[in-house]
Amino acid sequence: MCKFYTQQKYSAMHEMSIALSIIELAESEAVKANSKKIYDIELDIGTLSGVEIQSLEFAFEAVKSGTILESADVNLNIIQAEGLCGECGRTFAMQFVYDNCPICRSYNIKLLKGKELKLKSLNVE
Ligand SMILES: [Zn+2]
Repeated sequence: MCKFYTQQKYSAMHEMSIALSIIELAESEAVKANSKKIYDIELDIGTLSGVEIQSLEFAFEAVKSGTILESADVNLNIIQAEGLCGECGRTFAMQFVYDNCPICRSYNIKLLKGKELKLKSLNVE
C-alpha cells in the first residue's frame, strides 16, 4: 500500500516537471508575441513518450493557476506509436518500444512516431 502510494507520487512528479517546463516555454512564447494571455495550447504526446496522460492533465490543473496558462484550454493530442518493419516493409501500431513485427516477427523495426512530447501550437491574445 505504502509502496504503491510512493510510486504514484513519483510518477506524478515526472509529469509535474513536464507541465512546469511547458508552462515556461509557453510564457517565453507569449513574451515573444508580446501577449499576456494564452487562450489555448496544444501538445503532441506519443503513446511511447513515457508520459501518463492522466497524470499530465492533473499536473497542469495543479500548477497552471497564477501562470499565463491559468485560463487556457490544454489540449493533448495522443499520438499512437507506429513502427516500420525493415524486413517486410509493413507499418503497424506499437504498444512497447521493443515490439517486433506482427507479420514477419522481425526486430528490425524503425519507430515512425509515438515518442513525441512537444508543444504543437498556442493561441495568444
Ligand atoms: Zn515485418
